[in-house]
This record gives sequence, structure tokens and C-alpha cells, in this order.
Amino acid sequence: MSLSVGWHRRLSQKYRLAEAQALKRSLTVGQSLGPGKIRLGGKDLLNFSSNDYLGLSKHPVVINAFIDAARQMGVGATASHLLFGHTTSHALLEEELAVFLGRERVLLFSSGYAANLGVISALADRHCIIHQDRLNHASLLDGALLARARLKRYAHDALPDLSEASSLPQMVVSDGVFSMDGDLLKGALLSKIARAADALLIVDDAHGIGVMGAGGRGTLEAMGLDAEDVPVLIGTLGKAFGTGGAFVAGDKVLIDHLVQFARPYIYTTAMPPALAEATRASLRLVQEDPSSRCHLHRLIDFFRSGARARGLPLMASETPIQPIRVGGAGQVIVLMEALQAQGVLVGAVRPPTVPPGGARLRCALSASHSLEDLEKLLDALHRVFQRTMPEVLS
Ligand SMILES: *Cc1c(COP(=O)(O)O)cnc(C)c1O
Repeated sequence: MSLSVGWHRRLSQKYRLAEAQALKRSLTVGQSLGPGKIRLGGKDLLNFSSNDYLGLSKHPVVINAFIDAARQMGVGATASHLLFGHTTSHALLEEELAVFLGRERVLLFSSGYAANLGVISALADRHCIIHQDRLNHASLLDGALLARARLKRYAHDALPDLSEASSLPQMVVSDGVFSMDGDLLKGALLSKIARAADALLIVDDAHGIGVMGAGGRGTLEAMGLDAEDVPVLIGTLGKAFGTGGAFVAGDKVLIDHLVQFARPYIYTTAMPPALAEATRASLRLVQEDPSSRCHLHRLIDFFRSGARARGLPLMASETPIQPIRVGGAGQVIVLMEALQAQGVLVGAVRPPTVPPGGARLRCALSASHSLEDLEKLLDALHRVFQRTMPEVLS
């Protein structure tokens, strides 16, 4: 035992508490098989827990771009962006994303978590009031903590009250697609009240980029909102783009400021250049080939009508995130395990990722799936609910 007795006791108390509340998190070693599949504990499952919404992580064009670039430039960036880890690959990806999104500039980050910490902490300070949707991603809340700003959380079905302190700088921060509910922000209303109060509106569209909007530009495109409405747009590359890292898009003044002051940008190794090349390939596919996006939206419709026909309780989501609310943390684990026995993997999400009593099965659909795969998922869901929680079926 390398921890002291005191520290050991402190840590194991917390661990046992989480265990007693059915909130203990555990790692499982999975092996990714072909698109839409995963091997867990020697069993092959249909994977409905991945954010690879367009199946691009396994696309041969993306894989080859990654391999070719790694052969040429090596694996790691070997330095931070400001200390010469920034390469032509990064610069080109930033330019291409900016054109794609119709923004002046884009800045890459190593992850969405880092982008959110970086943007909020670079723009806000102790004197700033940050209004956040109660269901925002943890990294956005952590950004406000890092900035030591005054954090105000508004109810998910409400709008922030921006009238209180007109002399202080204010910010409104929201997920574009809510990551555990799959629903969308009230974009038009938020941008209207934010503009009227001179509050800066920041949208994290981690789950919308590549998926939503006719051109795959995300939730803002789907809502007809532009850079005037939402001046700061954040997106991750590890979800629909199938690679990794993240970006912030905005005007030149914003991006220049981030390069100076966003500590999670400055003090970290740049994204591997090969990953930037793979992402450039993903971006080309997102732009040139809408077929997987169309297929995904067909799957979403198919899932929802199939779930309704089987009496499964759906949430208000038109995105590939299709949660089924269960309630109890213990119950959701039982259901997840029963589903695995039926050959399908879905995520069980419990507090504190969702509010207390809001545990749910989070089904994530991907263009890698076929209609038959969804048929299997729906039948398995129906079977396990009928067996263990028939009261939720309508
Ligand atoms: C996944 C996610 C992030 C974090 O992105 P990573 O690139 O995985 O670090 C940030 N915000 C939201 C809304 C997310 O869903």
C-alpha cells in the first residue's frame, strides 16, 4: 500500500459511498470491431454507445489520411502550438473549418474539454456573470469555475434572466445539442435576449457539428442562425468527425484573444498533425457526401416510430442521441446488463452526469447501423423493459 492510512481511509470512504448508491463507475476493456460493433468480455455487441455518428472513425479515406500523414510527419506534434508545434496541417484545417462554418477564424484545441475551459476562462473573470443551462456539459461548468466567474444556472426549459446586472459583463453559454437529452437549445430566443442585453452567446455544438443542418454545419445551420446571432461556436472533432480534438470558431479579435490568454490552449501539446490531416479528410467527406447524414436521419425516424409502436418512453430528441428515461441508478445498470445479454450495448447514464432520479439508457445511433440493427435494438429494449420494468411501457 503506497497511500498513507489517512489518505487510504479518505478515498475508500468516498468509493464505498458511490458503490452503496449504485453510482460507482467502472472501466470495461472494449475492442472496437467493424463499424457499429464492439467486443466486450469476449462477446460481440451492436454498439449504440458511440459518438461516431457518421461512422467516419472507420472510414478508409480518413484512416489513410492519418497513416500517410503519420509516416511523413511522425505521430506526435512534439510541442505546443506557440512553441512551434503548429504545422501546415493545423493551419489548413483551421482555414477549411472557418470556410465550412462561415466564420472569420478557427482555433484548434486538443479536446472539447480543453476548448471549453479555454474559451470561458479566457473571456470571463471574477466580474463576469455567466448564465448556463442547468444541463450544460460538465466542461462548460468547469470553465466558469476556472474563470472564477459568477455562475448562474437556469432551468433547462427556461431562459436566463439577463436584466439584473447591466453594468457587469455577461455571458450566456449553452450546449447546442444537449449531450444526455438529445434536444436542442432555444437558439433564436437565446440569441435575441443575449443581443438585447449585450451578453456574449457561446454555443458548444459538440453533438451537432457534422450531424445537424442540411450541410452538416450543425445546430446553428439547422436553426438558421449565423455569426451575428452566436458569435462564439465550439465543436468537437472526436464525435461526428470521427477523429479527435476540438475547435473554436469566431471573429479575428476573439481568436487572437484566445491565442494570448486561453491557458488550456497555450500550456498543452498541439493536436498530432496526422490527426489534423485525418480531420481534413473527414471534413471533405462531411461536405461532399451527405449520404451518411441522410441515412442517419432516416435511422432516427425509424427508431422513434419503432419505439412508439413498442410503447417505449421517448424523450423530445430529433438527434442521434435517443435516451430512454429509467429513473433509478440501480435499475439502469440492471437494464444495461440485460441488453448486453441480448447483444446490444447502450450507455447507462447516472448522476451526477444527469440530475438525481434521471438515470437513463442513452441510445446513440450512427450511420454505421442498418435498419436491421435498429430492429434488434428496439426488440431488445422492449424485451428487457417488459421483463424488468413493464410499468414504463405504454
Ligand atoms: C463530448 C463533449 C465535450 C468534450 O469534448 P471532448 O473532445 O470529448 O473533450 C464538450 N461538450 C459537450 C457538449 C460534449 O458532449
